[in-house]
Amino acid sequence: MTTVAWTPREMALLQAMGIPLWAPQPPEALTPAAVAPVPARPSDARSETPAPPEAPDALPRAASAAPQPAARRPDPPNAAEPATPAARPPVAAAEPLGTRPGGVKHMGWEALRDAVSGCQACGLCRSRRHTVFGVGHPQARWMLVGEAPGEQEDLQGEPFVGKAGQLLDNMLRSVGLTRADAPAEQQVYIANVLKCRPPANRNPEPAEVAQCEPYLKRQVELVAPKLILAMGRFAVQSLLGSQEPIGRLRGKVHQYHGVPLVVTYHPAYLLRNPLDKSRAWEDLCLALEVIETAGAGTGADPDR
Ligand code: SF4
Repeated sequence: MTTVAWTPREMALLQAMGIPLWAPQPPEALTPAAVAPVPARPSDARSETPAPPEAPDALPRAASAAPQPAARRPDPPNAAEPATPAARPPVAAAEPLGTRPGGVKHMGWEALRDAVSGCQACGLCRSRRHTVFGVGHPQARWMLVGEAPGEQEDLQGEPFVGKAGQLLDNMLRSVGLTRADAPAEQQVYIANVLKCRPPANRNPEPAEVAQCEPYLKRQVELVAPKLILAMGRFAVQSLLGSQEPIGRLRGKVHQYHGVPLVVTYHPAYLLRNPLDKSRAWEDLCLALEVIETAGAGTGADPDR
């Protein structure tokens, strides 16, 4: 039998993402209960098509040879990955109360934050409790972009909180990154496509995305990251202007207004589909390659 030799860096990545390394298992360790996925949080309860049968790819290296999964929507805090938009509750879009302030493309951080907090340019302003502007280093090398706030994000005004946020933090830590205060080489910037929560976690409407995107575009211009990591089908499709399923967009380096963009699953989706962590691990490795090729290391050596 061949033994797989993991590098310390690979082991750190896998451990942080909760991917078990292969080792002989006693029969009782392989019972269905032992491999049951993590149950969804109530806030992740957007309709989700059950994951299709997976190849037994507990070994991430084997996953690279496995067929790409069908399009499944990684579930941002407010999201599952439905097979069709109709899978989400039909909540009608409300009318906006106002318009987006002019001059967004020339705003600095303070003006941009104020513009978002007072924005009434789409109907989501009616039901939000807080806008979720974004967090992180204003000159970060890595910029992470998700879909939209979920329930907890709406309450706390911060992106990626709860268990999904914890998994994201672990993934970041494994490659020497953090969302906590740190130098620009190590601290990421995190934002969403939409700054306000869609009610009942419904799919964002195209008009809402169109109204909100100038804020994200300006954030990207201000941060000027070396890489964007787009997390989840909706964020990916919004940023790339594509309807391709996420499985077909992964594994390539795309561009968003001149910034290299790598596609991966949303951490909340990975909590419920842990076998896909191996693919997310591949995506992180690709993102690392892009950063290293650009000569902008994360500032930490995961091999240490
Ligand atoms: S989602 Fe964006 S465009 Fe809509 S109200 Fe919130 S900040 Fe404004």
